[in-house]
Amino acid sequence: MRRMTVLAAAGAVAVAVGVISFTLGRALTGREPAVTAVPANVAEPELVTGTIASRLSPAAFPTPGRANAAAAPNPACSNPDALGVSRVVEIDTAGGPGFGFEQYKASDFLEPGEVVLTFDDGPWPGNTPAVLAALAAQCTKALFFPIGKHVMWHPEILKQVAKAGHTIGSHTWSHADLSKLPNDQAKDEIEKGVSAVRTVLGQPAAPFFRFPALRQPQEIVVYLGQRNIGIFSTDMDSLDFKIRKPEQVIASVMTKLKKRGKGIVLLHDFRHATSEALPELLVQLKTNGYKIVQVKAREPVQTLADYDNAIMKEFGGNTVNARPISTIVRTISGD
Ligand SMILES: [Zn+2]
Repeated sequence: MRRMTVLAAAGAVAVAVGVISFTLGRALTGREPAVTAVPANVAEPELVTGTIASRLSPAAFPTPGRANAAAAPNPACSNPDALGVSRVVEIDTAGGPGFGFEQYKASDFLEPGEVVLTFDDGPWPGNTPAVLAALAAQCTKALFFPIGKHVMWHPEILKQVAKAGHTIGSHTWSHADLSKLPNDQAKDEIEKGVSAVRTVLGQPAAPFFRFPALRQPQEIVVYLGQRNIGIFSTDMDSLDFKIRKPEQVIASVMTKLKKRGKGIVLLHDFRHATSEALPELLVQLKTNGYKIVQVKAREPVQTLADYDNAIMKEFGGNTVNARPISTIVRTISGD
C-alpha cells in the first residue's frame, strides 16, 4: 500500500505543526513513497511523527522550538506581499512513485489552492535567469527539470538554479522521445541526464524525473522504479511551448488552475514567453489566493559511476567550471 505521511503545513508566519498520516490506493508498481510536509523557511526542522486516521488540528502538536523558528521572518525575503512558499513537502522516492494527475491520479498530495511550479528544458541563457529573478522577487521556489545537454552547455546557469534553493531533477540527456528508443538507449538518456546534473553541481540532485513530452514506455517506468527515481507528470500543461505571447501563457495557466483548483503546473524556463510571463503570473497566483508548495527529495539521486565518468570525460576532465570558448576568447582585432 501507498503510505503517505504529512507533517502539517506551515507558512512563513505559521506557528504550529500537526501530523497527518493516511493511506492511499495501491500505486501502479506497488511502491511505497512517503510525502512529508515540513514547515517552509525552516532549515532543519525537527519533525514530529505519528500515525492517525484523520487530520488533526495543527494546534494538537504545539512545538515551541519549531513555532519560534517558523514564526521568525525570512530575512531573505524583502517583499512583504510575496507569494512565498506555504508548504515544503519531502518525497521518499523509493520504488519510483509517480506524481501528476495526468498520468498518476493516485498520488495527489496537494490541498485545494496549492500549486507546484515546474520548469522544463533549461538551463538556457536569458530565459532561465529571468525565471530565477521572477521567482526570487516573489520569494518562492520551484522544481526544475533540466536537459543534460543544456546543463553541459550552460553549467553556470544550473548552478544559479541550485544556489537559489530550487529543487532540481532531470529530463533526459537530449530530450529524446523515450517511447521511440530501444530500452538500452532510453536508459542511457536517463542516466546521462542524471549524471550531467551531478557533474555540474558537484553533488547529486533530487531523484525526480520527467519524461520528454510525458511519453513513458512502461519498461522505463519500471526501470525508474528500480532506480528509486520519482516520476513527475503534470496536473496541467500550460502548453507554453506553443505560445509566443506572455499574456497567453498567463491566461493558459490561470484558466486551467481555476478549473482544477490546484495542481502541478508544467512550464518551460527554456521559453522566452514564459520567462516574460512569470512576474505577472506569480502576482496573479498570489492575488487569486493560490499557495506554492515546494517539493524536495528525502534522499539525493544515486548516480551510476560509469555514467558519471563518461559525462566527466565529455565535459573535459576537471574543467567543470569551463565556459563556452566563445565567452573566454574573442577576437578584438584582425580579420
Ligand atoms: Zn521537455
